[in-house]
Amino acid sequence: MVHAVGRISDLEPLDLDVAGVERDEREHLKLNGFLQSVSNPAVYAAGNAAAVGPALTSV
Ligand SMILES: Cc1cc2nc3c(=O)[nH]c(=O)nc-3n(C[C@H](O)[C@H](O)[C@H](O)COP(=O)(O)OP(=O)(O)OC[C@H]3O[C@@H](n4cnc5c(N)ncnc54)[C@H](O)[C@@H]3O)c2cc1C
Repeated sequence: MVHAVGRISDLEPLDLDVAGVERDEREHLKLNGFLQSVSNPAVYAAGNAAAVGPALTSV
């Protein structure tokens, strides 16, 4: 059996550090309850890139 879920999003090309977008130890964006970056209010995230919420297709 192969378990392939939980892929890491390819965020490096986005240069999020330049925009001051903080990420956690697993490289997910740190977000508040509105899916808004805690360090750059112009940035929102959902799905596999987000530190909160489920990593599911329905998201
Ligand atoms: C094997 C497997 C089975 C799964 N089974 C289920 C399941 O049964 N049910 C379920 O709900 N979820 C399942 N998932 C999880 C689900 O697929 C993900 O959680 C979901 O697809 C995440 O959506 P996303 O939009 O965050 O990322 P993605 O679906 O990965 O979308 C990211 C998109 O960004 C694009 N992209 C990347 N870099 C760039 C760039 N530089 N410029 C432009 N576009 C870019 C990619 O090509 C991609 O289209 C499964 C995942 C895997 C791997």
